[in-house]
Amino acid sequence: MANHFLDLVRAHAPDASRTFIETPEGRVVSYGELDRRSAQYAGAFAALGVGPGDRVALQVEKSVEAVFAFLGTLRAGAVFLPLNTAYTGVEIDYFLGDAEPAVFICDPARFNESAPIAAARGVKHVLTLDAAGNGTAAQAADAAADSFEDTDRGEDDLAALLYTSGTTGRSKGAMLSHGNLASNAQALVETWRFTPDDVLIHALPIFHTHGLFVAINVTLLAGSSMIFVQKFDPDLIVALMARASVMMGVPTFYTRLLRHPGLSPHSAAGMRLFISGSAPLLAETHREWQATTDHAILERYGMTETGMNTSNPYAGDRVAGTVGFPLPGVEVRVVDPESGSGLAQGEIGMIEVKGPNVFSGYWRMPEKTAAEFRDGWFITGDLGLIDARGYVQIVGRGKDLVITGGYNVYPKEIETEIDALPGVIESAVIGLPHADFGEGVTAVVVAREGAGLDEKAVLGALDGRLAKYKLPKRVLFLDDLPRNTMGKVQKNLLRQQFEALYAK
Ligand code: AMP
Repeated sequence: MANHFLDLVRAHAPDASRTFIETPEGRVVSYGELDRRSAQYAGAFAALGVGPGDRVALQVEKSVEAVFAFLGTLRAGAVFLPLNTAYTGVEIDYFLGDAEPAVFICDPARFNESAPIAAARGVKHVLTLDAAGNGTAAQAADAAADSFEDTDRGEDDLAALLYTSGTTGRSKGAMLSHGNLASNAQALVETWRFTPDDVLIHALPIFHTHGLFVAINVTLLAGSSMIFVQKFDPDLIVALMARASVMMGVPTFYTRLLRHPGLSPHSAAGMRLFISGSAPLLAETHREWQATTDHAILERYGMTETGMNTSNPYAGDRVAGTVGFPLPGVEVRVVDPESGSGLAQGEIGMIEVKGPNVFSGYWRMPEKTAAEFRDGWFITGDLGLIDARGYVQIVGRGKDLVITGGYNVYPKEIETEIDALPGVIESAVIGLPHADFGEGVTAVVVAREGAGLDEKAVLGALDGRLAKYKLPKRVLFLDDLPRNTMGKVQKNLLRQQFEALYAK
């Protein structure tokens, strides 16, 4: 039978004996094993009554077995729903209530907490899987046949439900189809020139689009292999570079690796590509990486709802501070956020995208879905511009825009100025409630140890470089900026922490 995504995987699969995944601990999984084991998971799910369109939710540690469960879910015609391992019981309760999965797989260590929550939400089957790949889910797979006739699924059928990180309001389930996953992975294989000879360092979590769909699906549709690393560890990554060809990382991977004494043109010599995304890469990191390794990081831009949208070129200039060009088949436009009318080239506005990568809507939220599309274009919520050479630049999330005394202030512009000051590691500019201005521009700065920077010095350095209304009213110092697992600075937490700064 025809299963849109799996048929493509099969069409690109190399010889069954070729490696799909290896682990630093020495486990080697062949493409043949992937086929057999994912069939067993599909069989196990089918035996539990899981059918087309049913959701299979997982909150498990990263493991090879979880990858088999992912493909097994798609083969059974069901919808894969991975959940962040950091979610608490209260959050799990919301997701299970909202998505109503047929099966929930959790870590055995959390079974006693999670099983009653799932039962109360009407989830029929709760299974377990730990980081080593043991648990009742693996046992159910053991008991199933190692071949499976894939369930019919077309391009438009749902393949996954991925919840957005939900920094404002409730997290929403983005409905992604077989066609969304397939088209995006194909565009990336082409753009990044993946081949069966590539070996990808995979150190990302697999509950998020980056580690799950970008990394795993690209590997599958290129017939290449990956080294599956449980947790990011600079020593291990530097050592693995000798055996790998590509790394996909979030910006924090790169800043942490830059502090590693073993990073050099020599240790990175066998690598052909370093890719960054999920959060903005500082131009400074791009430059330092090039100076240290002789490699220009390739930055790309995407999101849960759309998969990847743009990428710097493989062959042309990889421009620091930009996310490159639209991927093949993807259209990007920048419009006036309110009216939706087109803007002159170079002007900052709302980034909107259209293409086979764009999701069909939010799970059971037709109004929210309607509100986030304009004439068939998805309103990303990211503000940015397209420069004279066609490179897309992101200036920040729309909700992070600061409006002070009626003027728009784009945090990125102020952050770039502050980051360039000697002694500054990084900064985040936020708007805080202010009686006179509506919002007061506020800078939160992380300074190098012993840099001797203070508020006065930062303000003095910015004076004359930025229009007066853009100057921070206050400069605060922190040891670190709060970040989520994907490396994104959580400005909502900073806004909460300093909410009363200007209160009289
Ligand atoms: P998520 O849905 O968790 O993948 O988050 C998507 C958001 O991450 C986008 O809407 C952007 O705000 C941000 N993002 C992803 N990649 C980049 C990038 N290369 N530069 C700046 N922001 C990015």
